[in-house]
Amino acid sequence: MAFEGLADRLQGVIKKVTGKGKVSEQDVKEMTREVRLALLEADVNFKVVKDLVKRIKERAVGQEVLESLTPGQQVIKVVKEELTDLMGGEQSKIDAADRPPTVIMMVGLQGAGKTTTTGKLANLLRKKYNKTPLLVACDVYRPAAIKQLETLGKQLQMPVFSMGTDTNPVEITEKAIAKAKEDHNDYVIIDTAGRLHVDNDLMDELQKMKEIAQPNEILLVVDAMTGQDAVNVAESFNDQLDITGVVLTKLDGDTRGGAALSIKAVTDKPIKFAGMGEKLDQLEAFHPERMASRILGMGDVLTLIEKAQTTVDEKQAKELEEKMRTMSFTFDDFLEQMSQVKKMGPLEDLLGMLPGAGKIKGLKNIQVDEKQLAHVEAIVQSMTKEERIKPEIMNAGRKKRIAKGSGTSVSQVNRLLKQFDEMKKMMKQMTNMQKGKKGKGMKFPFM
Ligand code: GDP
Ligand code: MG
Repeated sequence: MAFEGLADRLQGVIKKVTGKGKVSEQDVKEMTREVRLALLEADVNFKVVKDLVKRIKERAVGQEVLESLTPGQQVIKVVKEELTDLMGGEQSKIDAADRPPTVIMMVGLQGAGKTTTTGKLANLLRKKYNKTPLLVACDVYRPAAIKQLETLGKQLQMPVFSMGTDTNPVEITEKAIAKAKEDHNDYVIIDTAGRLHVDNDLMDELQKMKEIAQPNEILLVVDAMTGQDAVNVAESFNDQLDITGVVLTKLDGDTRGGAALSIKAVTDKPIKFAGMGEKLDQLEAFHPERMASRILGMGDVLTLIEKAQTTVDEKQAKELEEKMRTMSFTFDDFLEQMSQVKKMGPLEDLLGMLPGAGKIKGLKNIQVDEKQLAHVEAIVQSMTKEERIKPEIMNAGRKKRIAKGSGTSVSQVNRLLKQFDEMKKMMKQMTNMQKGKKGKGMKFPFM
């Protein structure tokens, strides 16, 4: 996950001030110095860092903080608010046309992720908003690029408009929009060509396409892994095309995250989406506040819940809740639960969104092993109906039989039984909490 280094350092700073009954100006000074270093190390643009640190300092030594009852927490609040502001404050949505189709141009350097994001965005628009996009192949310089978009279209079962490599992109754009109107596609997403560097020919072409397309959005696709260079690229594209927003891709990589924190400040254009992987469902709306929370180790429970809502069947979720309430959760439910969680994506990503997860020792190195999950499944499947409902009847003989049936060992069976037991205990705590009693321990928002 991106931001790991930054998150570690900032969380270290925060730990020092949390719970402090008194925060002196000296404390604030030290803290801001560390914040400054953390940001610079994360490759945030130095001008941006300077401004940000200045604002944090001003606010942190102000009345708002020093005279409050919980100065430590107030300082953190200031840092979080400033980080949020830096990344754009409010979430920024797609600007839709009054009269369809809404036209979106994807621009950016080669390899930034334009073609992939074109597919992801179309997928998101359909899944979340029931839209019917038309994808347009305008990267005519590489035949493989057209093929790539066509393949994505096939995977998504969505129409792709292309005229091969011999027609010029301006003409393709014009024809594509006419076709979208004819076929009642409410969105047109244009995949354009990139270059290795910003160059005049490319900009000329994009400007001409812009004139013809009159797009509602020009989204600049930027590879977050490119660090400071991403900021320069964003500046040039913005100067030439007056982009409307940015898509940051490859935030799943171990980028230091500086680009994400600088682009809005430098271009004054919002980051609208974040690419979190190569798959077609790995595009997220970018929420500055949630991202700030993630960076500061406060977790991003809202995104997690949204993820659960789009993947977990609502009726099943309700049933599960009922079972948890009445404590009739069985191994069958456990299996069901596992398959739902699997649908939500890699477990490592999900864990990263839990508050405080960064602090759990060793979590970063956890590789949630698909093979291990398969073992768990096999173990449960080797249980009898009765055993799944009443694991307390399990004895040595039964365990041996299950281990044999599932191709695992008795100690693996034991481990699972123990985990299941702990899970049930945790659910009990959660349901107690919901009843207003105070419980301790983690919440599992995806259950
Ligand atoms: P284009 O040249 O701008 O059209 O870039 P492509 O869409 O062809 O993407 C270049 C490479 O980046 C491909 O291998 C993609 O799978 C990969 N890619 C794109 N977005 C992401 C992302 O969010 N995360 C990761 N890990 N890879 C991505
Ligand atoms: Mg491409």
